[in-house]
Amino acid sequence: MPSDIAKNLTQVRRRITLAAKHAERDPAEIELIAVSKTKPAAAVLEAIAARCNSFGENKVQEADTKISEIGRDKADWHLIGHLQKNKARRAVQLFDVIHSVDSPELAHRLERICAEEARPSLDVLVQVDLAGETTKSGIAETELQLLVEVLKRCEHLRFIGLMVIPPFFDDPEDARPFFQRLRAIRDRLREEGVFAEGEGELSMGMTHDLEVAIEEGATMVRIGTAIFGERG
Ligand SMILES: *Cc1c(COP(=O)(O)O)cnc(C)c1O
Repeated sequence: MPSDIAKNLTQVRRRITLAAKHAERDPAEIELIAVSKTKPAAAVLEAIAARCNSFGENKVQEADTKISEIGRDKADWHLIGHLQKNKARRAVQLFDVIHSVDSPELAHRLERICAEEARPSLDVLVQVDLAGETTKSGIAETELQLLVEVLKRCEHLRFIGLMVIPPFFDDPEDARPFFQRLRAIRDRLREEGVFAEGEGELSMGMTHDLEVAIEEGATMVRIGTAIFGERG
């Protein structure tokens, strides 16, 4: 008997495939990141058994406990939450990808720590705050270019793409302009040739709005609730 998590994963994969077909895209170019924040290691292990191998966590400390239970090399670990500078070293040790770089200071710090930890490379995305919600994390569009210039000069950080969290809307259609905007910024940066490898990832789309995000070009979707159920 497949577990609920295995069944949910099947459903989510189906949603991704359908949305990709609808947008005349290849579903294989969309990476599913299962967001396991607040969920126990046992839930992650069930997802791994169902051939899911990328997980998103938003807190370094919680991820630390979980990853040590499961094994650092059992999956790819993505940090999707705001990174405080005093957690940067542990983040470099734990994560394969950081989606939430949002200041030149943080970029400099991560770069220095990679050198100190003898970590040859770390994949990073820049989180852009397109809603002007200053309480949330993410860099304002007006300050983005400065951060991009810093990342260009980093030897260890590999700048691979952009991430956005739109405000919550009841109607996922309302998130579309945010996804379109992120894509336009990505396209411009791609022209500039700033991405470490080719195209530039777009990390966007959650349980509620993954179809819209995929139609607008998402290459990484971050899905929690639809896989692991509601969070307490
Ligand atoms: C929690 C979270 C998600 C997943 O949200 P769901 O609505 O549960 O799919 C995705 N991205 C980020 C940054 C999150 O914090």
